[in-house]
Amino acid sequence: MIVTDTHCHLYWNSFDEDRSEVLARARAAGVQRMVVVGTEVETSRSAAELAESDPEIWCSAGIHPHDAEGSDPVARERIRELASRERCVAVGETGLDWFKEFSPREAQLDSFAWHLDLAADLDKPVIVHCRDAHEATADLVSSHRLRRGVMHCYAYGPDELAPYLEAGYHVSFSGVVTYPRNEANREAARQVPLDRILVETDSPFLAPQGHRGKRNEPALVVPILERVAELRGMTPSELAEVTSANAARLFGLPGS
Ligand SMILES: [Zn+2]
Ligand SMILES: [Zn+2]
Repeated sequence: MIVTDTHCHLYWNSFDEDRSEVLARARAAGVQRMVVVGTEVETSRSAAELAESDPEIWCSAGIHPHDAEGSDPVARERIRELASRERCVAVGETGLDWFKEFSPREAQLDSFAWHLDLAADLDKPVIVHCRDAHEATADLVSSHRLRRGVMHCYAYGPDELAPYLEAGYHVSFSGVVTYPRNEANREAARQVPLDRILVETDSPFLAPQGHRGKRNEPALVVPILERVAELRGMTPSELAEVTSANAARLFGLPGS
């Protein structure tokens, strides 16, 4: 079984003590491939370093909506340089977060639009974070020329899927799909076309049920995959093959 964790933040300081053990546990669990996602200039640089140190790790470069206030011309120039590198397979994470609203909405909208333009210019997919901002996100995604991306940590139900699928985006399920109250999210996981579905941990955040409140790590994409496989009436290894092939195609990884 070859599993791909399409979204993790392995550079996070909670991994500083035992990053090599975390990677070894991931590989032992079948999680061969990972995409390490940047959230601002420094973390995008750290993600690039990790990707350059391991042939089965790739990275993205972008400015998280929480940090959108810092999405100024200097930061954007650095992100453009990092995103242009060979090991960088996506632009982001970007998007809109109306829940925490750590940056003003105007700054988030402006930064998101800039990332969509960058992804289109570089011909790379975009990684979109969306929390309590479905309508504004769908508007931007639908009206932009970019037709390649992923709705990361998709936390909505089946009713919100249409604009993203119509725009050609993939939909990635996280630990959220394992939480007891999230039946609507499980219904979305049943309905996403099989050629658009991905899995991710978003580690160190959002540990799946049974591990909640603890640090998440890439090995724990396996229980997420198992839950989604059960919802789809597939075996975990069948779904692992499908989601890894989807990730390879979306991010242009070897074997796609
Ligand atoms: Zn996110
Ligand atoms: Zn993330």
